[in-house]
Amino acid sequence: MKITVNIKTGAETIIKTLKLAGFQAYLVGGCVRDSLLGKTPIEWDITTSARPEEVSRLFKKAIPTGIEYGTVTILLTDGQYEVTTFRSDEKYVDGRHPANVHFTTDIHADLARRDFTVNAIAYDPATDQLIDDHAGQTDLKKKLIRTVGAATARFSEDGLRPVRACRFAAQLGFEIDNATLAAIPGSLATVKKVSVERFHDELIKMLAAAKPSIGLEYMRRSGLLEIVLPELNACVGVEQPPEFHPHDVYWHSLYSCDAAPQDNLTVRLAALFHDLGKPACKEGFTFYNHDKVGAEITERLMRRLKFSNDETGRVVNLVASHMFDYSAKWSDAAVRRFIRRIGGVGNVPNLFLLRQADVQAMRQNIGTDYLVELQARIDRIIADENALHVKNLKVNGQDIMRTLGIPPGPKVGQVLNDLLEKVLDEPNLNERETLLKLIRSYA
Ligand code: ATP
Ligand code: MG
Repeated sequence: MKITVNIKTGAETIIKTLKLAGFQAYLVGGCVRDSLLGKTPIEWDITTSARPEEVSRLFKKAIPTGIEYGTVTILLTDGQYEVTTFRSDEKYVDGRHPANVHFTTDIHADLARRDFTVNAIAYDPATDQLIDDHAGQTDLKKKLIRTVGAATARFSEDGLRPVRACRFAAQLGFEIDNATLAAIPGSLATVKKVSVERFHDELIKMLAAAKPSIGLEYMRRSGLLEIVLPELNACVGVEQPPEFHPHDVYWHSLYSCDAAPQDNLTVRLAALFHDLGKPACKEGFTFYNHDKVGAEITERLMRRLKFSNDETGRVVNLVASHMFDYSAKWSDAAVRRFIRRIGGVGNVPNLFLLRQADVQAMRQNIGTDYLVELQARIDRIIADENALHVKNLKVNGQDIMRTLGIPPGPKVGQVLNDLLEKVLDEPNLNERETLLKLIRSYA
């Protein structure tokens, strides 16, 4: 098979340099996988027989970013590249880190320690050869996530791998191979040892997929969701009024998340978490106060998963505000109170995107046309508030009368309006000294 995507020049330069120095070097992992799928890779990872110190010696700007795992980051003018020495990690004692990182000069050993077959293909751009010991190309065609080697063994080495399987399924729109999926429930004890920071990173990548629901549902089915996001797992089977909702709270959350804009992590998180308060607040088919309860649950959950304070604040605010309503009868004062209640006009765009995602995951008869009207009213109010008036000028009628030595009369108003026109064109003219000088020119 030919790699159809043009390899970024920096990656090719690095591989040539390593080979000229007598080492083996290949592209590997995500960039080969994505190229074979016809996508343009975001990052180009290189694997080599050279030891980290040898790699560092060959390049001017080399940063040892993961020296214990053999990774050196090379900075070139067209970007940065991770160069990792061939490894074979045989023993994992704690389910998180290989006890002994063993460098090797055997590319086959390096491919064998990688997680999934589709991630374990190496490519030599000089010869256009693929090294595909684990039938990764077949799995790419079958759209399958399958471990390299026996799933049970590979998952017991590193408890993050089951979550990565679900993440890749979502990211690539693949299925998880039956044997691989069946090995997850037995690996949950190892999964529990993984640090939350690593879950955080996988969750973010999953939420950037076209349909995060694919990965999240695999997590639910295999028991991972109960460990990583128990609050969401608690929504499974929580029924809602059927006239609005064809789905339980869990599926509604997943479909809302899918419907949120793919490139807006904040809204995707808010969509996934907006109804987390429902299980606790359920009374029949009503969920009184679930927005506020959900905001508290979301805050705890996001702190646990080590999201930044900023991101947590934004998402919590959206969850707390997601039940807003609007009526054309609202006065402008009511619109202003609404803006204040949701934490300022800056939060309006994401809140509306959340509402649209929420409604898309309900029965299709509700519509969101009122958002257009509410947006127009907000725009007008903001424009009015920001508009400059004569009274915002840094001079007043008294200044004009005094400077020009004229009595009260229409001339004062004319000069004020004229100054306002100038300031509207050029806001930095609105300084007292500047305006006094301008006034003199009216003499
Ligand atoms: P993405 O495009 O999302 O970055 P990727 O395949 O590059 O996907 P990374 O998490 O960046 O994924 O990892 C790079 C490569 O390192 C993988 O393709 C895989 O070969 C290997 N790898 C990463 N994490 C593990 C792990 N936990 N166990 C085994 N191999 C791993
Ligand atoms: Mg990567």
